[in-house]
Amino acid sequence: MTKYDSLKELEKKILSDMRLPLQESNLVFGEGDPDCRVMFIGEAPGLTENQLKRPFVGRAGQLLDKMISLIGWKREDVYITNIVKRRPPENRDPTPEEIDAYKPYLTKQINIVNPSIIVVLGRFAMNYFLPTAKITRDQGKVFKVGDWFITPMLHPAAALRGTGMMEVFTKTFQKLPMVVKKCEVFAKKITLHKKEVEEQESLF
Ligand code: URA
Repeated sequence: MTKYDSLKELEKKILSDMRLPLQESNLVFGEGDPDCRVMFIGEAPGLTENQLKRPFVGRAGQLLDKMISLIGWKREDVYITNIVKRRPPENRDPTPEEIDAYKPYLTKQINIVNPSIIVVLGRFAMNYFLPTAKITRDQGKVFKVGDWFITPMLHPAAALRGTGMMEVFTKTFQKLPMVVKKCEVFAKKITLHKKEVEEQESLF
């Protein structure tokens, strides 16, 4: 089965899971290239995302698109989703229960896409992977969490709120192509090292 088919199957499963919270909103599953190197994960869909059933298509999404083209990439070449896949009413913060409920599906989605790096946008998505991290202190750093390289960035909506934040967001975003390459080199070294250890172990 292709990654595309696996994602389609997962989407059908979420749609038919009536135990999931926020059933009054539309499902915004995620979109992009299943064979991407970079996966962006935000918090939860907003009003426009709920209407169009697509992630990051409102004002924050337009800024994300602008940044993606600034570094010479295309939106279709990355994969974009959220930790919570339905809009909380009045755009309130998602609750820990809502985040937990969608967790098994997000985990499967990440495993299928298997990106070189995950960019977590904003505090909620960051704390999902890095519970003790602080967004202003840790944005732009790279962390290894289990199998994944995770890099937190400011949420584009936060960048839109002030010039200083926009500068930080832009600077960090511009480093992304270099960060991705470094992670891929590092991942190759880890794989090589594991192979060597396995080969040495099999000598005995
Ligand atoms: N903010 C998010 O975190 N996700 C979206 O999809 C849109 C806005």
